[in-house]
Amino acid sequence: MPLNSQKMSDRPVRVRFAPSPTGPLHIGGVRTALYNYLFAKKHKGKFLLRIEDTDQKRFVEGAEDYVNDSLNWLGLTVDEGVREGGDFGPYKQSERMDKYAGYAHQLVKDDYAYYAFDTPEELTEMRAKLEANSMSAKYDATSRMSMRNSLTLSEDEVKERLDRGDNYIVRIKLPRNEEIRFQDVIRGWIVFNSSQLDDKVLLKEDGLPTYHLANIVDDHLMEISHVIRGEEWLPSAPLHVILYRYLGWEDTMPKFAHLPLILKPDGKGKLSKRDGDRLGFPVFPIEWKDPKTDEISSGYRESGYLPNAVVNMLALLGWHPSDNQELFDLESLINEFTLERVSKSGAKFDMDKAKWFNHQYLMKATGTEIADMVASQIEPKHTARGDKYLATAIEMLKEKVSFASEILPLGDYFFEAPSAYDEKVQRKKWNADIAGHITNYINSIVEGNMVSASAMEEQLQAYADSKEIGKGMLMQPLRWVVSGQAGGPPIFEMLELIGLEEVSKRLDRAIQKFPV
Ligand code: GLU
Repeated sequence: MPLNSQKMSDRPVRVRFAPSPTGPLHIGGVRTALYNYLFAKKHKGKFLLRIEDTDQKRFVEGAEDYVNDSLNWLGLTVDEGVREGGDFGPYKQSERMDKYAGYAHQLVKDDYAYYAFDTPEELTEMRAKLEANSMSAKYDATSRMSMRNSLTLSEDEVKERLDRGDNYIVRIKLPRNEEIRFQDVIRGWIVFNSSQLDDKVLLKEDGLPTYHLANIVDDHLMEISHVIRGEEWLPSAPLHVILYRYLGWEDTMPKFAHLPLILKPDGKGKLSKRDGDRLGFPVFPIEWKDPKTDEISSGYRESGYLPNAVVNMLALLGWHPSDNQELFDLESLINEFTLERVSKSGAKFDMDKAKWFNHQYLMKATGTEIADMVASQIEPKHTARGDKYLATAIEMLKEKVSFASEILPLGDYFFEAPSAYDEKVQRKKWNADIAGHITNYINSIVEGNMVSASAMEEQLQAYADSKEIGKGMLMQPLRWVVSGQAGGPPIFEMLELIGLEEVSKRLDRAIQKFPV
C-alpha cells in the first residue's frame, strides 16, 4: 500500500529548527530557521529550536550558543527551546536520551526492525563480497539474510547474546521493492522505491539513537506539524515516512517541505565557506571562532550588514512574493510568506544584491541610529559640533555607501578642513576668474547672512545671472573649495550644515594653498 502522506488537518502549527551543533550555522541554515519562523508566525503557531546533538563525536564547543546568538541578532524569536523552555522539553536531544531506545525495541518486537550483531570485520567482508559481485554494498532486504542478526540467528541465540551483553545495533527492516510516496509542500509528490534505501541504524552500540530515530521521535512527541528543512534531507524523508508508519504515527505525520539549496554565485553547486573566502563575502551570520584552530570566519554582522537587510536578502533567496516587491521587514514577510511560493530550484547567492539590501536599510536608518552603529569610529572631532550635526552629516553621506563604516571616512570635510584637494578639479577648474567669482559669491552670502540651503542656492543663481555666466561652472569649484572633493552630497545642504563661518575660512585656506 503506498503511503499516502499526512492528513490535512487543523493541527496547530508547530515547527522546529533543529540544527546539530557541529560547527557554525551557515546562512543556508539561517534561511531554514527564517522560513520556519515566518511560517509559524503567519499561522499563529510556535517556532521551536531543538538542538540535535545525538552525535557526540561531531559536537563542537560553542556551536549551540552560536545558533542562539545568530537567531537573536536577526530578531527571530524562539517560542520554545533550551533557553526559552516550554511544555515539550527538554529541547536538547542529549537531555532526552531516555526517550528513544524504547521505540527502537518496540519496532523490533513489531518485526519492523532487528538486532544486528555483525562485527566491523564481518561488515567489511560483506561489503567486499557484494562489491566483488557488482552489487551495491548495502545492508538491506537482500543482504541482511546473510548477516548476523536477529532475523538470521535463532531466537535462543539472540536471547543469549542480549543477556550476555554482546554489542548490537538496531536496524530498520525496510520492505523490499516497495513504493514510498509522500507529498512535499514545495515539490509535490515524491516517490522513492524502498530498494534505493538501506536498513539504516536506529540505535547505536552505545544504546543512543541515530539522527533518524531521535528526529522522528522528537517531532512526534513535540507535536510538530510541518518539517521545513533543507533539500539535503530529502533522501532521508522516505525513511522518515516509513518510521512514522511503523511507529503507528502516520495520522499525525508532519507535512514535509524541503527547501532549495543556496547556490554559489555562478550557480554551480552549493554555496560553501570556501566560496565566501574566495569571493570576499561572509557565509556565516555572525563571527565564528573555531575553538580548535582559533581561526576566525567573519560574519554578516561584523562585515557591517544590518540584521533586517540580511533577513530580507535571505527571505528572497528561494522564495518570492506575489508581486515584484523587494523590501520587506519581518512583519510584512510574515504576512506575505507562503511555502507554496518557495521555489524548487536552487537560489543563486548574489553578493551585489546583498550589498544593495544593506544600502536600502541604511537609507531607512536615521543618522542617529547609524552614529550608534559606527560608535567605535567616532572621534572627538565628529561630535565637536554636537550630535545633531553628526547625525545630519551622516544622513547626507549615507546615500553613497553600502556599509555604515564607509560613511565617516567619506565625509571627513564635514568635521575639519580638507587635508587633500582633488587634483583634477584644481587643474581644470580653478583659475583667477573662477576664484574671483567664488570669492564674490561666498562674501555675498556671508554678508547677507544667508544660512539656509535655499537662500544660498538662489543667491548663486542671482550672482551668475548678474555676471551673465552659467551657475553650473561655479558649482564644482565651490564644492571643491569647501570639501576638497569633486563630488558629494547636495552642495547647498552641505554648505548649510558646514555653516557660513567655516565656509568662509575654507575659502581663505583654498586661496592660500592654491594661489592663482
Ligand atoms: N539535525 C538536522 C540538521 O542538522 C536536522 C534535519 C531536520 O530538520 O530534520 O540539519
